[in-house]
Amino acid sequence: MISDSVEKLVEVEHLVKYFPVRAGLLQRVVNQVQAVDDVSFFVRKGETLGLVGESGCGKTTVGRTMLRLIEPTSGAVRFDGRDVFSLKGRELKSVRRDMQIIFQDPYASLDPRMPIGEAVMEGLNIHGIGTRKERFDLMIDTLKKVGLEDYHARRYPHEFSGGQRQRVGIARALALRPKFIICDEPVSALDVSIQSQVLNILKDLQKEFGLTYLFIAHNLSVVEHVSDRVVVMYLGKVAEITTREELFRNPQHPYTQALMSAIPVPNPRLKRQRTILKGDVPSPLNPPTGCRFHPRCPIAVEQCSIEEPQLRAINPEHMVACWLAK
Ligand code: SF4
Repeated sequence: MISDSVEKLVEVEHLVKYFPVRAGLLQRVVNQVQAVDDVSFFVRKGETLGLVGESGCGKTTVGRTMLRLIEPTSGAVRFDGRDVFSLKGRELKSVRRDMQIIFQDPYASLDPRMPIGEAVMEGLNIHGIGTRKERFDLMIDTLKKVGLEDYHARRYPHEFSGGQRQRVGIARALALRPKFIICDEPVSALDVSIQSQVLNILKDLQKEFGLTYLFIAHNLSVVEHVSDRVVVMYLGKVAEITTREELFRNPQHPYTQALMSAIPVPNPRLKRQRTILKGDVPSPLNPPTGCRFHPRCPIAVEQCSIEEPQLRAINPEHMVACWLAK
């Protein structure tokens, strides 16, 4: 586990991202999709922070907003002490070099007409790193770091399997030798047998390059394997933040408990008490009042639909947004 004294590399403060809904001839804004609503957390240097929740909970929007792939509505992101949202020009370019992303579907982010060697070198070219020969050597070295060979550089995306394409996605992010990588569901599109290979590559690279990861997933069992700490999100809000050990030993938020109960147990003789949540995830266009989880919460009390619970510390490494957490 990473100690308390380790420096924070990334700080997200009161991040909000609303998407306007327009209608009519004049395309007036008639509503807002509240995708991310007042989200705060930090990532310590060298750790992997898991960010988990059902699809549509806002976790991917958080990741993309942090990198300014989409612009925020409000809030702040500090990277290595710099305010990412106020940076422009050369300063923004320099932060972008240090903050990279691995996408869930690398095929969609690769140009089908570009050999993968060129795709891996693209970032190096944009940032004007070294000479052409140095960029080429760095690209070959990066391919080898992710378990590919130099002859792969001449091949095109369609010639690769899903697992190999994700290695290319990792190589693209790694080529610039960043400090921080957002891994946006990097294994959810892969077969289970390939998933562990990709996770092991990510772990090895983290050790070798001292990388810090934000690991986004909808599946707690993947997060359990890679994370030092975990943020659980529900409908645009943070429900719980704690260390991996504490989360699995003492989950406090009823939503986390429900996610936990859905993790398959490898021993068929052991049965886990499954919590089935009632109803569908409400729409972020019109989220419930009070605690956003209250219409589905098995232990909700009257206060839950009236007042919104704020994140509060129940011990120095465990924050929960629930009125009933102890
Ligand atoms: Fe359930 Fe109430 Fe806690 Fe929300 S605040 S999770 S509704 S008990």
